[in-house]
Amino acid sequence: MNPDPRQIPSVDQLLHLPATAWLVESFGRTMTLKALRETLNTLRNNLLHGKVVDLTPESILTQTQNLLNTWFTPSLKPVINATGVILHTNLGRAPLSPSALQAISQIAPGYCNLEFDLETGRRGSRNLHATQLLTQLTGAEDALVVNNNAAAVLLVLSALAARRNVIVARSQLIEIGGGFRIPEILRQSRARLLEVGTTNRTRLEDFEKALHESGAALILRAHHSNFRIIGFTEEPSLNDLANLAHRYQIPLLDDLGSGTLVDTVKYGLAHEPMVQESLAANADLVCFSGDKLLGGPQAGIILGRKDLLEKIKRHPLARAVRADKITLAALSATLLHYLKGDWEQAIPVWRMIAQSAETIKIRASRWQDTLQVGNVIPSLSTVGGGSLPGETLPTFVLALEVKSPSQTLKWLRTRPHPIIARIENDQVLLDPRTVLEEQEDLLLNELRHLLTQKAH
Ligand SMILES: *Cc1c(COP(=O)(O)O)cnc(C)c1O
Repeated sequence: MNPDPRQIPSVDQLLHLPATAWLVESFGRTMTLKALRETLNTLRNNLLHGKVVDLTPESILTQTQNLLNTWFTPSLKPVINATGVILHTNLGRAPLSPSALQAISQIAPGYCNLEFDLETGRRGSRNLHATQLLTQLTGAEDALVVNNNAAAVLLVLSALAARRNVIVARSQLIEIGGGFRIPEILRQSRARLLEVGTTNRTRLEDFEKALHESGAALILRAHHSNFRIIGFTEEPSLNDLANLAHRYQIPLLDDLGSGTLVDTVKYGLAHEPMVQESLAANADLVCFSGDKLLGGPQAGIILGRKDLLEKIKRHPLARAVRADKITLAALSATLLHYLKGDWEQAIPVWRMIAQSAETIKIRASRWQDTLQVGNVIPSLSTVGGGSLPGETLPTFVLALEVKSPSQTLKWLRTRPHPIIARIENDQVLLDPRTVLEEQEDLLLNELRHLLTQKAH
């Protein structure tokens, strides 16, 4: 027989219990009351539907606390990336270097000279902080840091090409995912898209003909990002395109997407277009992301001609997409690694790229030894983030044979500290390349748990 609903304790009765006082202290009075009411409502409903319920205060308070715990757990939480995809957009792209974290913790808790000139005591520019480093590293005349690279492209087009033509090769009318499509960004900026060439081949003459016949405010070159066209293809060189633009006295914007300050060939990868190369090829403006191969915080970086950047900075959108002090602090700290030459040790993205298959094999074997399950097999990591499409890095993974790989993946995803793995040939693969060293113990503990707890 189920108890009488009248036997459900009242909120008042529960509030006077010492255990409730502890909840009030931990979660605040308002939310504790809300959780108590919600728990009691659920009990009442369950009673009405003839379900078995426990009306002891202990049980009620446990349910209340569970509810409060879920309400107070941030939905944004750290995960362990065992996918082997280094720049995983869905997992937050680049992990930050310790010095970037240190810079954030120095700046964030207090005031700073974000827009304050300490010499004169007058208003300064927030743009100064990263600009000096960026121009020093790349030789660009000037720089501007905004919210992300999508904002950078939108801002440049809005400031320099609104209501006028922008010429783009048909092979570069890309979508990079997350709804960023070049034609739509152009429309948003109120620039008019003038597409030239064909899907696979575009020649300099195509640009020249369009310029001659219709005129334009700007030529846009966009990195193909996460796709590759192969076979019978042609695109003019950046330098030829820049020279053509200059003959018609208009600027060329090179959207590098990832952009890198370091030659990826040194790491056994294909050549990813470098920021310095675009500037050397006479692109008037270059833009790229802060959290792709640069390995810093989310940001969009615009480099290039001072006169154009002055105009861009004055556009109203610049205010709407400006970078905050935390971004600027982390970005500056990241850039310093390039200046110093220790990016490969200090910036996690580059450390992961540089890690040799042999080193990774040792890590995977250690996991296997610890767990006494699985096989260490060769596999491939990828860089991701729209850079280096189709390029892979040889790696070794711990492969687990499980009854249901998709169930196991879900179990791993739903741990308090979620682990993201991948399935290949019906096996669950864990790639050490993207697992931070300090996360290894946590990962192994969860895996141990998985192996004992389930007949996996
Ligand atoms: C990634 C990318 C962008 C967008 O950069 P976000 O920093 O994600 O806004 C724009 N263009 C290209 C070619 C890209 O690869």
